[in-house]
Amino acid sequence: MTKTMAAPIDLHCHSTFSDGTLTPAALVELAKQNNLAALAITDHDTTDGLTEALAQGTTHDLEVIPGIEMSAWHKEISLHILGYGINHLDPALQAQLLDLQQARQRRNEAIVERLTQLGIGISMAELAAQGSGQIGRPHIANLLIAKGVVRTIPEAFQRYLKRGGLAYVARQKFLASTAIAAISAAGGIAVLAHPFGMNVHPDMTQLIRELKPLGLAGLEVYYPLHTAKNCRKLALLCEKFDLVASAGSDFHGHPGAFSQLGVANKAIQIPTDLLCKLKERLATDQKSAPES
Ligand code: AMP
Ligand code: ZN
Ligand code: FE
Ligand code: FE
Repeated sequence: MTKTMAAPIDLHCHSTFSDGTLTPAALVELAKQNNLAALAITDHDTTDGLTEALAQGTTHDLEVIPGIEMSAWHKEISLHILGYGINHLDPALQAQLLDLQQARQRRNEAIVERLTQLGIGISMAELAAQGSGQIGRPHIANLLIAKGVVRTIPEAFQRYLKRGGLAYVARQKFLASTAIAAISAAGGIAVLAHPFGMNVHPDMTQLIRELKPLGLAGLEVYYPLHTAKNCRKLALLCEKFDLVASAGSDFHGHPGAFSQLGVANKAIQIPTDLLCKLKERLATDQKSAPES
């Protein structure tokens, strides 16, 4: 008997509007070439690429889900919160994003200042030239490579940019509760990004117990850095806490991609009804949201 494979989906990737190397239109084209059934573009702290992505989706007859990945803190833990199905033009969401973007800019300035104190001459103008949207640590890492200070992005993070690194500066404490509320108020659902990927919480169950009452609707279960065991654990947590599962590659484009568009996890099969369930949740949560 032949087994029909469902077309893959990808609900997490980055464009040139944050730290990806492909434009939103190019990402949609690549998704089409890779025969994806749906794509969510989830740039860091900005929705500015979504109008282009949605238009390109219409042109190529590919389902594009408006998304975002917001940087946030919960207690002393740095988290990324994905938002799906947002009305990206919502003024309250845009006001929150402006706050986040300004905080990013201040953080970048502080990192550049630290690097200067360490004898590494980098100007804000040089940094701005590294990207066209939200600038962050990956752009600083690229500049450190261009200047011959380090050879690779992981080395740049290890020595300078990660927590504990020589030029590390913490982001402003923008709360996960605020991010989740902003996503929900803009008609979207909030999903915890890569729970076992980066900045792992020591007690995932406890973290979920705390975030669920704030409005968290799902977990990014399928992610390239998750082991099959972790994916299964997260899928069980979804069931236990009535959360939806998401799947994303966190594709940032080329070169140096650690993931491929449309491949959320190589070790485990992604349920074929994942997107359907996510959209059902979106529809119910939208219906139950108070009129604004
Ligand atoms: P930022 O938004 O400026 O805090 O940068 C966060 C981004 O940096 C993440 O989304 C990753 O793409 C990248 N990143 C974080 N930690 C590392 C690391 N240790 N090595 C390489 N890239 C990293
Ligand atoms: Zn990124
Ligand atoms: Fe992330
Ligand atoms: Fe990401």
